[in-house]
Amino acid sequence: MYMNKLIENLNSRGFEAVYVENKDEARKSINNAIESGASVGFGGSMTCVEIGVQEMLKERGCEIYGFGHYDAEDLYLKAHTSDWYISSANAICETGEIINIDGRSNRIGAIVSGPKNVIIIVGKNKITANIIAGIDRARNIAAPMNAARLNRNTPCKVTGKCENCNSPEKICHNTLIQHHPSYGSRVIVIVVGESLGF
Ligand code: SF4
Repeated sequence: MYMNKLIENLNSRGFEAVYVENKDEARKSINNAIESGASVGFGGSMTCVEIGVQEMLKERGCEIYGFGHYDAEDLYLKAHTSDWYISSANAICETGEIINIDGRSNRIGAIVSGPKNVIIIVGKNKITANIIAGIDRARNIAAPMNAARLNRNTPCKVTGKCENCNSPEKICHNTLIQHHPSYGSRVIVIVVGESLGF
């Protein structure tokens, strides 16, 4: 079964991967991992919004730095130096790599060199066969939908696919392919058997 192979390949690369059936189980996994009162940074993950991660952690006294909490002047720095960082991904490959593209790149920076503890939550709709298919998904599915969500002036917002633009408002300045966790970094990957985010 491809899900078993995906989890096996992620674990063989040093990620701590688990499969859960649904959002409720995903919430339980995150609750079990993160200590009450911890500081937690986020990017702009719609998956986390759909799961209700921030609300759940706030109830446990966690400090939240991220999407929907833009009151902190030094938000990105605080997210980057939190105890934990939680993000989704634009694609997760059956071969075990995790792919994200980013405009400001605070998210991919935090994932690879920010908090020592990272959680990546990914719905089954983001599973791809390999890196090539993962980058294709990131640029031709995730990016156009995010450009529309953020109302960016990019051609992909209009055409629904990547046009390799140089728009000053482009949302994909950098592409991260995680082959393994960075040195000293613990990366928990929660693969959810539901479609989440885009
Ligand atoms: S390069 Fe431009 S068109 Fe392509 S995904 Fe990025 S923002 Fe959209």
